[in-house]
Amino acid sequence: MTSNYIDPGIADAQSVRTPSDDIGYAQGLDETARRLARRPWPTRPLQRDVAVSFEYFPTNSDSAAAGLDDCAHRLDEVNPAYVSVTYGAGGSSRDRTFATIERLQSTLASPVAGHLTTVNATKAQTLAVVDRYLQMGVRHIVALRGDPPADADSGSGHGPIDGYTTAAELVAAVRAQARKHTDEHVTISVAAYPEVHPKAKSAEADLANLAEKVEAGADQAITQFFYDNGNYLEFLARCREAGISVPIVAGIMPVTSFSRVSNFAERCGARIPEWMIDLYRGLDDAPDVHQLVSATLAAEQCRELAEHGVRRFHFYTMNRPELTLSTCRLLGFGCPAVVEAAESARPLPQAQAS
Ligand SMILES: Cc1cc2nc3c(=O)[nH]c(=O)nc-3n(C[C@H](O)[C@H](O)[C@H](O)COP(=O)(O)OP(=O)(O)OC[C@H]3O[C@@H](n4cnc5c(N)ncnc54)[C@H](O)[C@@H]3O)c2cc1C
Repeated sequence: MTSNYIDPGIADAQSVRTPSDDIGYAQGLDETARRLARRPWPTRPLQRDVAVSFEYFPTNSDSAAAGLDDCAHRLDEVNPAYVSVTYGAGGSSRDRTFATIERLQSTLASPVAGHLTTVNATKAQTLAVVDRYLQMGVRHIVALRGDPPADADSGSGHGPIDGYTTAAELVAAVRAQARKHTDEHVTISVAAYPEVHPKAKSAEADLANLAEKVEAGADQAITQFFYDNGNYLEFLARCREAGISVPIVAGIMPVTSFSRVSNFAERCGARIPEWMIDLYRGLDDAPDVHQLVSATLAAEQCRELAEHGVRRFHFYTMNRPELTLSTCRLLGFGCPAVVEAAESARPLPQAQAS
């Protein structure tokens, strides 16, 4: 199988990489690390206590599944803390989510987390998914309310009469179910919205809702993607003021397609700053430039957040490895020699850790 991945570390080897090139590829990584470590300009790699995680969605065809496997395999080289697989609201992707998790569990070095939505499901149906995850060895569940179908009349987001009506209720139920079935700690992540969930009554109500989810037993929150670091940092400060002390993992969405990301942002309440519109103007017809800009932008975003003490980044990969991998490489992931060199030269400041 061929791939279109070109090792960025070997300037004169502009050839297509194939799996049979693995030894050369590993040498290429070392060479990349050596070259980057010699760079005089201030592209500080992140420190060792910084962790990345990657989100994938279940695919609906064999060829897309092969693409996802290839993506996850390539991204595994940067040693993510975990990867997660989404779950369609109302259970629409349930079996595909299970199958994807099982495949990734058997091939990746990193632990695999399962998402779970509760909207439009009975409590029994929701708990059956929790049980299945636990049986599969999943020890990290991303617990979400989920979006009701667009044609739902009430728009309340509430599922059937015997369903969990809020994500906080779901968190408590997952925690109780996990305790029943295993002595191991099951990590529960929940969603957070630095720029406020579009259906929230107010920013205060949204924050109070996050606090409820944490009180119900969530270990960490993963944010909706954002591009305005100031909004995330203000949100982080508000969380801390409100007594929410769990990590607020920064959700990073490298811009695979500016027009697609803009549409997506509009639907989920993420703000696209004016300067980004200018940055991408005219790049629809210049895909190479678009990609280079996007990798640089995502790396700069993470670097700035790291300067403010942020230590966990969750990448919405869209099942595409190139941008996330480039971004992680620019940050020093997958290049241990670069991190060592940078740490001994000038450590990053320790700010308010998230
Ligand atoms: C990290 C992350 C992972 C995600 N993974 C998935 C996934 O795998 N599958 C999936 O389908 N979706 C996923 N989503 C999207 C998520 O399901 C939606 O954002 C959903 O609208 C809210 O879910 P929640 O768990 O945040 O809900 P809650 O915590 O219950 O709500 C969040 C806020 O939105 C308000 N709110 C939400 N819905 C309504 C409503 N209908 N009416 C009034 N107020 C409302 C709440 O009051 C609260 O302020 C993910 C989002 C994030 C950030």
